[in-house]
Amino acid sequence: MNLRRRFYKSIGMADTQGGLEVDIKIMSEQESSRLRDESRLTGFCDTFSVPSSVQELQSIAKEMWAKGIPVTMQGALTGICGAAVPNGGHVISTEKLNKIIGHETVGDIAIVALEPGVRLSELLEYCSHNAAALSGRTFLPDPTEKTATVGGMFSCNAKGPNSPLHGDTTDKVLGLKILLTNGSVLKIHRGDCVFDKDGCDVPELGRICFADLSKIGCAGKGPAFVHEGSDLIDVLGGSEGMLGIVTELELELEKTAPEIWGAMFFFFDKDEALIFAQAVEARFEIENDTGVYLAAEEYFDTASMKLVNEYKKEVTLLKSAPDFPPFAKSAIYLELEGESADKVEAELSELLEMFASYGGGEDDTWAGSDAEEIEKFRLLRHAVPEAVNTELDRIRQSDSRICKLSTDFETSEFSMRETERFYSAALIDRGLKGVVFGHLHSRRLHFNIIPECFAEYEKGRALIAELARAQGEQNSCVNWENGIGKMKKDVFSILAGSRRATAETIKHFFDEKGLLNPSNML
Ligand SMILES: Cc1cc2nc3c(=O)[nH]c(=O)nc-3n(C[C@H](O)[C@H](O)[C@H](O)COP(=O)(O)OP(=O)(O)OC[C@H]3O[C@@H](n4cnc5c(N)ncnc54)[C@H](O)[C@@H]3O)c2cc1C
Repeated sequence: MNLRRRFYKSIGMADTQGGLEVDIKIMSEQESSRLRDESRLTGFCDTFSVPSSVQELQSIAKEMWAKGIPVTMQGALTGICGAAVPNGGHVISTEKLNKIIGHETVGDIAIVALEPGVRLSELLEYCSHNAAALSGRTFLPDPTEKTATVGGMFSCNAKGPNSPLHGDTTDKVLGLKILLTNGSVLKIHRGDCVFDKDGCDVPELGRICFADLSKIGCAGKGPAFVHEGSDLIDVLGGSEGMLGIVTELELELEKTAPEIWGAMFFFFDKDEALIFAQAVEARFEIENDTGVYLAAEEYFDTASMKLVNEYKKEVTLLKSAPDFPPFAKSAIYLELEGESADKVEAELSELLEMFASYGGGEDDTWAGSDAEEIEKFRLLRHAVPEAVNTELDRIRQSDSRICKLSTDFETSEFSMRETERFYSAALIDRGLKGVVFGHLHSRRLHFNIIPECFAEYEKGRALIAELARAQGEQNSCVNWENGIGKMKKDVFSILAGSRRATAETIKHFFDEKGLLNPSNML
């Protein structure tokens, strides 16, 4: 059923351009893919819409809010924590809001303005198409899932393997337009609104007050991490659509390094791999006068390599990539960036020598520097979570209550070796299957449990809560990579401590009536 309705501009809707005809559709079985994201959590809603202009979006949202109907925003639904999964009310998809408005270069800086539904792949394509005008600048954060939208990436503060070197999505947001639940549009640029010790003046809303933000020294993005000196853009980034609807972004584009090398090192022993990785990090931290930088340092355990070897047989893009060698117990992928081929190659030779001291040889290494080879390495890395999700779909055929079970804590106080051991031992101890992979350099190892039945799923959930408690006891500040959404709220409660109340204050200030993305995070 398709309800065709006419909404009209009304008093106080200054940004709506006259009478607009918009489609509000009743949620139906055929559209049920709109009820879940990559976490496989399934929600419910009454109606949905796919506006084709920002004015239309504003008109729909305001009409819903005027009736007290909550709105859940959706980008490409690639999120893995259920943040875009509706919990009743109305769903707005940004799939047609995919216009790249244009770019501008000011001195050394290039900025692109775009609508929230532009996908990362489209943005990268735009940058390569306009390479001459942009002097080769592009969008550097790489959350690996290229179908994600920029609105979704900002709202989850998406980041990828290269985040220690190139930052996260929010870091690149220089300007923003956000529709607030009071119907006004907040237009801000970086530096316009910065929190002082006891709050921040927010245009269109007034002052948000806190008792004392000076003692909070915990870095991060999103409403749980606000502190004295936080830019409002960094509080809105990672807020999972709970504070306002992003209608336009201005993103900073940057130059890629002239020389990039990727190298995969295979190990007979996983402990060796993690010791090697520690030595690599130390080398780049201490002796970094080489003009060569460590852009990514990724770990693969035995189970993740096995899973990818099976998965890649079915995936056209991956068919030309070699299989992970059967002897390998673990692998480390390094990506190096530098000014010149000579320098990067010299550094790579040093790393090969280091690798030899761990018993490795050239035959246990893959390396490449052209764009296609680098892309293949990155695809192999991205194949791990994709393969896990494919497994999950297979398992869900026998029990659809099973959803994704993963951790993405950023742990500063445990070494990655300790963390890996901790995760692997937990799997053995509980008799569960899973994979450990991810970003060593930024201290975010991903732990994915693959349950075979609902009883194992429940066991896995309990295990993740236990791991969160253990992290919370050891770390004064735990950050995370893929958001909280609806799947990780219990973990958030354990880890966030008093920062949960801070997030609540911010949510209440922006959306007192709970009209946006209900049930996320809090
Ligand atoms: C195989 C795989 C690998 C992945 N790897 C990574 C990774 O390495 N790093 C990483 O960070 N993530 C990763 N992800 C997760 C995901 O790609 C990111 O979270 C991405 O940012 C989500 O974008 P999306 O467009 O799909 O957003 P959605 O999932 O649709 O939505 C995400 C959130 O954004 C909100 N939102 C969307 N648009 C708007 C808007 N216009 N205004 C306000 N709120 C909005 C939604 O309400 C929701 O809260 C991976 C996912 C998959 C499937």
